[in-house]
Amino acid sequence: MPQKSKYSKFSLPTFDPYFGVDPDSDNAGRLRAAQVDSISRTMPLMTGGKVLCAFVVYFAFRNEPAGWFLEYWTLALFILGALGFNHVYQNKKRGIRITASKNAYKRATKAVFLSGLIWAIMPIALYPSIPAEDRIIITALMSGLMGVGAFSLYTVPRIMMLWALLLFIGSAIALILVPTVTSMIVLALLGLYVCALLRSSYSMASKFASNVITNLESLNQSETISVLLKDFSENASDWLWELNTTGKVTRGCPEFLKSLNVDFTSISPGDYQDNFLGDNSQVLNMRSVDALRSKYKDQKSFRDLVLSSSSSLGERWVSLSGKPLYDVNNQFLGFRGVASDITDKKLTEERIAYLAHNDALTGLVNRANYTRALQDLISSPDKDMFWSVFYLDLDGFKAVNDTYGHAMGDKLLGEVAKELKVAVSERDIVARLGGDEFAILCMSAGTVQSASSLAQTILKALSKSYLIDDVNVDIGVSIGISLRTTDGHDAHTLMNNADLALYRAKAEGRGTYRLYEHQMDEIVKERRSLETDLKNALKNNELSLAYQPLICAKEAKTVCFEALARWQHPIRGNVSPEDFIPIAESLGIISDIGDWVINQACKEAATWPPHITVAVNLSPQQFQSKKIIETVVNALVSSGLSATRLELEITESIFIENGDVVLFSLNELKAMGISISLDDFGTGYSSLSYLLNFPFKKLKIDRSLIKSIAHNADTENVIQAITKLASVLRLTVTAEGVETLDQVKVLSRMHCTHFQGFLFGKPLSTDGLHTYILSECGYDIRTSNNNKLIKVA
Ligand code: C2E
Ligand code: CA
Ligand code: CA
Repeated sequence: MPQKSKYSKFSLPTFDPYFGVDPDSDNAGRLRAAQVDSISRTMPLMTGGKVLCAFVVYFAFRNEPAGWFLEYWTLALFILGALGFNHVYQNKKRGIRITASKNAYKRATKAVFLSGLIWAIMPIALYPSIPAEDRIIITALMSGLMGVGAFSLYTVPRIMMLWALLLFIGSAIALILVPTVTSMIVLALLGLYVCALLRSSYSMASKFASNVITNLESLNQSETISVLLKDFSENASDWLWELNTTGKVTRGCPEFLKSLNVDFTSISPGDYQDNFLGDNSQVLNMRSVDALRSKYKDQKSFRDLVLSSSSSLGERWVSLSGKPLYDVNNQFLGFRGVASDITDKKLTEERIAYLAHNDALTGLVNRANYTRALQDLISSPDKDMFWSVFYLDLDGFKAVNDTYGHAMGDKLLGEVAKELKVAVSERDIVARLGGDEFAILCMSAGTVQSASSLAQTILKALSKSYLIDDVNVDIGVSIGISLRTTDGHDAHTLMNNADLALYRAKAEGRGTYRLYEHQMDEIVKERRSLETDLKNALKNNELSLAYQPLICAKEAKTVCFEALARWQHPIRGNVSPEDFIPIAESLGIISDIGDWVINQACKEAATWPPHITVAVNLSPQQFQSKKIIETVVNALVSSGLSATRLELEITESIFIENGDVVLFSLNELKAMGISISLDDFGTGYSSLSYLLNFPFKKLKIDRSLIKSIAHNADTENVIQAITKLASVLRLTVTAEGVETLDQVKVLSRMHCTHFQGFLFGKPLSTDGLHTYILSECGYDIRTSNNNKLIKVA
């Protein structure tokens, strides 16, 4: 900054040509360049003006006695003018200078001194020989030249002073040579004028220098920033960039360019409207180009503008934040800012988005996206009604999962997904809804015929043996279908109805498909509400046991009671176990109910006369894990019932799945002294191999067979075969559902060892049972204490 001179109070201050800048510094050189350039700019006008003035003087005073002088004088000025113009021309050719040496100052000083001297001589030579009024013209001309010169040379105070003082001294000498009062007054005024001129142009010079120095400082600063930023760019994950008006990168490190896939060397400048980003507009994705173009239209700061580009290097993303650049005239120059490579972040986001839309395991569409697609289809203006919704559930998947583990289950789901993709057409959308449930939006099947035929194709494709990790696993599939034309106007209804149809397909034996029918609604609603109630039945104490006696044929007395579950529903009343046991099985809560039955039956039986045993029915599901052993042991221990007084009734279906686990448990239970009975014999497989594989204690002939004795002659032969087989295997045989004496006669002939049926006794409540035992055995359970039975005489 220019230092304030200590003489500033005087009209003539000290002339510090560098205004506080060290004359040998770079800044002084740049200041000199700015000053000399400023003089050079005004030089043509100044020189032209002076030549014009010289001609005026020449033509006005050439006939005066000093006319001869004017000829040499004008010529000298002319030569000086020509040299001046040449200097301007050379300067133009050289272009704007950044720095100027002290010599440039000296040369300018010499030129101005020469020119000033020539002009100063002129009034001295002319004044004595010209009339007084003409002297006024010369004085006016001289003061005018002083002023114009001062303002065109003001940037270099030393040169400006030289010029003004030379002209003043010349004029002063001329005035003194003709010492009139007027000329003395003019001299005094001229003196004041020069002082004022010098004072004001010096302050202008100071301002000029101050501006130049400020600009230089800020330039230096920006260069420092530039260097620092370059360093930052090279070391940080963010880079700096600068784009010009055409979108061409004028600053940006190689990493930045690489990350944009952009080769900026190929960009040709042009109007950003037409040739925006040059050839790279093809590399940058169209949306990115548009986004950037809109920033150019706004010319406002922006943040986190994401640009993407694709090339052989793959797809890449950068995020830009920038602000517009303007020059001193407020002309838009482009943008400058920072960029970061967000490719990794973007790829992660895409993966998350993919996972949000797709099922990670199978790659199929997920539930959320499937529902959205379904809703879109329904609300699409193009109301093509001929499509359908398939709801699929794998049969036997749970067994695969339980037996071979989840890894195998996952692989199986992947295989199923592949098969499904192949079975449907390309337009169909296949989704995995979760677990082993799938859904298809069938664009290719909208009628009963086409949907049925597609369902058959899928059933065939999926129901097979899959070879996974060298293991053959068999599964099937059940399918429910709802048609857009008839079965629903919204996504929820269509999915719900397909689900109801699936429910029916499963209820009707699985491995099949069903189309939705309106009455399914009611049946399913009914079942659903029963399911909900059953889940709460145990904790609401709605379950109880009934006991049906088993009679020994030989001794004609009760030897066992079969415990039969009862559900007293608060609204529906008695629900048959034939209805609720299968529901409990399908809900997976049969083990809870079964545990309760075993405990309850053991507790009750412990109060009976010691020769009476209790029989408990077990579902196959209760044998899926070895937990049944623990349950039974606990029930025996807590009730104090002897294991030999407990019979467990199972059906053949128990061996279908997990035969080995079942056999293990049965053997364990038998080893404890518990007897195992084969229930419902004569229906189902009635396979000999089961009888041979496990040493049962008892065979129970199914009541349907007993019922048919009266009207089917063959039945007797069948029963005969069964009892013979049983005697070979040393099994006792119980005939179930005995209602008539005729049946008893036939069965006795066939050597049935035990009878059970309404003829002997219906299932009894606990109260009824106590009365029964009292009347038959003479034991009063109600008054017995501490499990000590009281025999009534
Ligand atoms: P089940 O094991 O064959 O039980 C005998 C069924 O035959 C009982 O039906 C019984 O009331 C009925 N019954 C007995 N004598 C006669 C007769 O002379 N005529 C006719 N028409 N029926 C007779 P309930 O109690 O309805 O039980 C049905 C089935 O429910 C049982 O058949 C059994 O498979 C199952 N069940 C009952 N309680 C349980 C249980 O606690 N656990 C399991 N897993 N299943 C049970
Ligand atoms: Ca039974
Ligand atoms: Ca039975």
